[in-house]
Amino acid sequence: MPILRDWRLTFDQAQFMQEYGHTFVRILRRPGMPEVFDATFREIAELAEPAVIWESFPVQEMRHEAVILAGGQRIGNGPVTTVMGGASHLAIGVCTVGAAVSDRIHEHKEAGEVVRSMLLDQLGTLAVGQLSQRFYDWLKTDATSRGLHISTYLSPGESEWSVRDQAVIFDLLDATQIGVSLTESLLMKPIKSLSLMAGIGSQPMGVPGTTHCDYCTMGDRCPFHGKHAGI
Ligand code: SF4
Repeated sequence: MPILRDWRLTFDQAQFMQEYGHTFVRILRRPGMPEVFDATFREIAELAEPAVIWESFPVQEMRHEAVILAGGQRIGNGPVTTVMGGASHLAIGVCTVGAAVSDRIHEHKEAGEVVRSMLLDQLGTLAVGQLSQRFYDWLKTDATSRGLHISTYLSPGESEWSVRDQAVIFDLLDATQIGVSLTESLLMKPIKSLSLMAGIGSQPMGVPGTTHCDYCTMGDRCPFHGKHAGI
């Protein structure tokens, strides 16, 4: 089961302020806050340990909203077969930026460093989003080099695809190899982790030009909508 660790994530403070600065305007007027921002940007760059575990699974058939894999496992509902219909394989992966980021968010919170905890939390979310987009781009390049097509990617729980399928993904992949586990309530630990799935096949799949955000139940209410490419 391939594990990829050689990712270079970028944290551009100027770009972040352009995108999200409006939510921090009042906070940044407080004494010492610009320094807190600088320190937190250094912190995310130091603490993030990006890793991805993934595998390509042959598809046996698609039945209504579900995909039946060659091993007999059933995965998907909601928009999965609309997006991945016609795929011969499913690429399934778990991405994480590691436990150190989540631990530090918790430590700042415990120490009453609310702004620092909140900012690091947001940067951690952007970091794992960026990692999932980089991994998807990597899959796309690989598929294209083999003359294949790839669908957009989806994550359980983001769209109408039920979060319950996290359990199927964690049965298929031994994500403990990159330090990620699934709790009984289907939350990934460490929290700054994401699972994703994309279809690979000889013909184009899904609706051209759409992304996972177009299928997400958060829609435009999400501050990160369409921004998984990172900062
Ligand atoms: S809308 Fe937000 S939560 Fe939904 S997939 Fe896009 S970035 Fe993720």
